[in-house]
Amino acid sequence: MNKRVYNRIRFFGCILLLILLILIWYNRKHDNNVQDDNRDFSTTDKVFTVVIDPGHGGKDVGAKGASGLYEKDFTLSLSKKVKEILEKEEKIEVYMTREEDTFISTVDKYRPKFANELDADLFISIHGNTYEDPNVSGTEAYYYHDKFKSFAETIYNKVVSSTGFKARGVKNKDLFVVRYTDMPSVLLEIGYLTNPQEEQMMFKDEFQSSLAESICDGVKEYLEIE
Ligand SMILES: [Zn+2]
Repeated sequence: MNKRVYNRIRFFGCILLLILLILIWYNRKHDNNVQDDNRDFSTTDKVFTVVIDPGHGGKDVGAKGASGLYEKDFTLSLSKKVKEILEKEEKIEVYMTREEDTFISTVDKYRPKFANELDADLFISIHGNTYEDPNVSGTEAYYYHDKFKSFAETIYNKVVSSTGFKARGVKNKDLFVVRYTDMPSVLLEIGYLTNPQEEQMMFKDEFQSSLAESICDGVKEYLEIE
C-alpha cells in the first residue's frame, strides 16, 4: 500500500475514534441528567425556588366545609404561613401562584406553567378535602410522576404527624397540577372540610402555624438544608 494512503487512513481512523469517544461521553452525561430528579446539591450556594399553590380562589371556592367555610380561604391562609416561614431561609426563594382571593382558570394550566416558567425546584399545592359522608376524615397526598414520589412522601409524613388526622396515604393520581409540573410536586389534601372536627381544626390559627412549620420541615429535609 502507498505510504501516503496509509497515513491518510490512519489519520481519519484517529478522528473517527475521537468522535466516538466524545459521543460515548456525551451520552453518559445525558443519562445522568435524566436519572436525576432535579435535585442539584453540587453547589452549596444554590438558592432553591419553591412554589406554593393555594388551591382554588375567587369564584372557585373549592370545598364547602361542614359549617360553610370555604376551602379557598383555608388554602390561602395556610399557604401564606408556609411562605412566611420558608422566606426566612437564605437558600430558599418562595413564590405563590396567587397571593389574594383571585380566580385562576384551569383551562390554560396556569398553576404548573407558573412553576415551570420560574424553573422552580419544588411545587406544593395545598387543598382541603370534601366528601358527602361527614364521618370521612384524614390527610392524603398526591403525586403523578414516579420519580417524584419520594418528595410527596417526605412532605406527607411531616404533615400527617402535624395534623394528627387519619393517615390516608400517598397516592398516584392524574391531577393536572402534579402532572404538568416539571419539578418534584405534591398536592396535599390536609383534611376533610366536610368533617366538622377537621374543619374546625383546619381554620384554627395555631393549627395552621404548626402545619406550615411541618411543611417547611419537609421542604428542608428534601433539599438537605441544615
Ligand atoms: Zn381543592
